[in-house]
Amino acid sequence: MRNCIKCNQKFDERLSDCPFCSTPYQDPSKSPKWYFRKRSLFISFLVVGPFMLPLVWFNPQYSQTKKTVLTAIIIIVTLLMTVAFGKSLEAVWKYYQELNVILK
Ligand SMILES: [Zn+2]
Repeated sequence: MRNCIKCNQKFDERLSDCPFCSTPYQDPSKSPKWYFRKRSLFISFLVVGPFMLPLVWFNPQYSQTKKTVLTAIIIIVTLLMTVAFGKSLEAVWKYYQELNVILK
């Protein structure tokens, strides 16, 4: 018997898809490593930013197109964050300059 990864129903080993929810069967021993799961990729991006890209590139489950698209998204988000960080630094710098003028 096989166990569906989605609905957890048991079904015949000869079937490739779950008859209840039609999810394709996945061998638990072949399931992705914890560091290739979506949640891990997301958290690693929040922690180390674009330095997590090798996790996308070496992910055996992602197609070449998916890897390219994810890489582009990660680079664009990183650039936007860098610009936003620069602008916030600029705002803080201006604030302290005004404070300096007032306190003189
Ligand atoms: Zn199912």
